Amino acid sequence: MNLSTPLTEIFRLKESQKKALEKLGLKTAKDLLRHFPFRYEKIGEIKAIADISKNDYVSVEGKILKLEMEKTWRKKMPVAKGVISDGSGSLRVVWFNQPYMAKMLSPESNICLSGKIQNDKNGLYLANPLFSSELTFLNSAFGKPSGFPKADNYLGIYPETRGISSLWFQTAVKKVLSRIDFEKLKDPLPEEIFKKYHLPSLKFSLAAIHSPKKLSDANAAKKRFAFEEIFLIQLSRLKEKIRYQKQSGFPVKIAEKELGEFVSTFNFSLTQSQKKALAHILTDFKKPSPMARLLEGDVGSGKTAVAAAAAFAAVKNGYQVGYMAPTEVLARQHFKSFSNYFSPFKIKIGLITSAECLKFPSKIKGAEKQETPTHIARSQLLKWVASGETPILIGTHALIQDKIKFKNLAFAIIDEQHRFGVKQRAKLVGRGLTQTDTQINAEVKPHLLSMTATPIPRTLALTIYGDLDLTLLDEMPPGRKKIETIIVPPSQRERAYEQMRYEINQGRQAYVVCPRINADSRGSNMDNRGENLRESAGNLRLSALYEIKAVKEEYEKLSKKIFPEFKVGMLHGKMLPKEKEKTMNEFREGKINLLVATSVIEVGVDVPNATSILIEGAERFGLAQLHQLRGRVLRSEHQPYCFIFTESSSKRTLARLNALLTAKNGFELAEYDLKFRGPGELSGKKQWGISDMGMEALKNLKMVEAAREEAQVILEKDPELKNYPLLSAKIKISSALSGAHFE
Ligand code: ADP
Ligand code: MG
Repeated sequence: MNLSTPLTEIFRLKESQKKALEKLGLKTAKDLLRHFPFRYEKIGEIKAIADISKNDYVSVEGKILKLEMEKTWRKKMPVAKGVISDGSGSLRVVWFNQPYMAKMLSPESNICLSGKIQNDKNGLYLANPLFSSELTFLNSAFGKPSGFPKADNYLGIYPETRGISSLWFQTAVKKVLSRIDFEKLKDPLPEEIFKKYHLPSLKFSLAAIHSPKKLSDANAAKKRFAFEEIFLIQLSRLKEKIRYQKQSGFPVKIAEKELGEFVSTFNFSLTQSQKKALAHILTDFKKPSPMARLLEGDVGSGKTAVAAAAAFAAVKNGYQVGYMAPTEVLARQHFKSFSNYFSPFKIKIGLITSAECLKFPSKIKGAEKQETPTHIARSQLLKWVASGETPILIGTHALIQDKIKFKNLAFAIIDEQHRFGVKQRAKLVGRGLTQTDTQINAEVKPHLLSMTATPIPRTLALTIYGDLDLTLLDEMPPGRKKIETIIVPPSQRERAYEQMRYEINQGRQAYVVCPRINADSRGSNMDNRGENLRESAGNLRLSALYEIKAVKEEYEKLSKKIFPEFKVGMLHGKMLPKEKEKTMNEFREGKINLLVATSVIEVGVDVPNATSILIEGAERFGLAQLHQLRGRVLRSEHQPYCFIFTESSSKRTLARLNALLTAKNGFELAEYDLKFRGPGELSGKKQWGISDMGMEALKNLKMVEAAREEAQVILEKDPELKNYPLLSAKIKISSALSGAHFE
């Protein structure tokens, strides 16, 4: 057996187990070893119920009674409950978030349960115990004839899916570890690195993370794997960056005076932040290698103007500019802004979307130029782009179709870059010149400016965007209406409703966002809390269902009891696309005064007349997400309001929410989320391809910087990683610059 042996060859698997492994993406022995527990449990000695006390790890043998399923009323979490009784007494048993437990056990049967004793207001109970058939299986797997496995090692509890249990993983891992030839199992981390940072070896770490003797061993192992993960991402991104920089770019000469004139036609002056960002870009433009830069700034911080000024510099050098946006609406909006910015300079702009092509300015016989865009044939636009006659092309994904050939695309701008896949970004950058019949070298690559408004912490940005240089726009243009954010205690609920009623009576509109129900994200934290919230696909589905239920209930309440005089609408994920669109249109047209929605649905919504947003259960959202939610109502000349409702009276929660009143921008809030709530709070977590453990590592700036530094040191010596074949084989390239994908 080796690391790439398929699991189906190592184990005899039931159909349900095969399915579960598939779902978890586990194919080989290596995958199994790299599937880590998220917490640990001890198997305790058998005790009589009369003898147990709080915090004991015990096993109890007896009859299971009164099995039932219910939901906690506040978090709507499913709970299976029962009572186990031996001769000496009886004890409550509770399985949180494992509703199926009530069905897996037969009532009145004799079983053995093992877990930790906790207590609540009703006394002692056994929390999330393992049960006997699992234990028997474990015993036989460990070659013990009867009784329980000895309690010297901790047992790993794994993120499960239905059909496969933690016990299965424990046994399976044990089997693989005992049969792997550790001499051949080479550590991808160079020795000098793990020695320098006092990280345990791969061999030790694998054993310790699955079945540690002490919890501190498991923690050391986690630290090692987390470092490894972050280091490998950094290494791959930096390698890509170095490769990109080795290519030639288009040298852009900066005509300061003309650029000054261009900027002076804006009806505002640039903020300090915008000036700094523009300076970064212009410095990059002068270099012989192509730029690869990420511009991060809150919604409304003025990224478009920065992009326009840089585009002007490129066009003045006789080059072309491509500007890609994720939606038709955005592409049109940029086309309009650019038309305004460029019209005094007679620079032509094209728009390409799947629906239509436009050009600006339009030439009409007699008139020198017309200040309106005109519709043109796609083929005509493509010709002008290929000949270089249209220097600026703005568009949706349509911009990266193979049919579109530029004469000399020197500057590629991607707006809302997180909305595009890696391949799409790479495709725009790969455009360069190569497909055309110019004499310019095929290796010449355009300067890339990627833009995003998603506030993420610095450590995360350094890691996932390691192939890009970073510029922050951390200042808002002056004179913006400041959103009035009010944290509403339960006793003031009525007053907040009155304020909304007043605003709606003034002709404004409002959103109510229902609480996020979060059955899945808590179990993934790598801590050792007593509560056992296992992650499962079922939980995700459940939380979606509860969320919709919450929307419906809220809708009933608001439309019938609180605001019977207004038209209230509802929007959630289970509605048909047609119904959604109808509701959205009615809201846009002002026929609906107040829209009740889930937190997921509302992101695409842009209705300037909506000036109030009320967020229920705010303690369940990350701060950065709350910040983005309130950004919805920042779009008009009227004073916007954000009402933050929370049921929680805990000081910590209130202090956390208070950050919304004091933080300067979304980035500050994202940092706060990471520090105080953990990476689970960062929205968009899935798309970054970082494990929960890697995300935990992002809390540690020193670790992230160390990983980056080590990656830099290695690449400086050996840019192709010729002397590091293990590293070279491991790194995943999924950077913005290269569409290449995974191992
Ligand atoms: P985003 O960063 O979200 O893409 P935009 O570029 O769309 O923001 O800019 C938002 C609005 O702010 C636009 O109407 C733009 O004209 C305006 N704007 C940009 N920069 C400034 C500035 N320095 N002063 C005043 N208004 C500005
Ligand atoms: Mg924008």
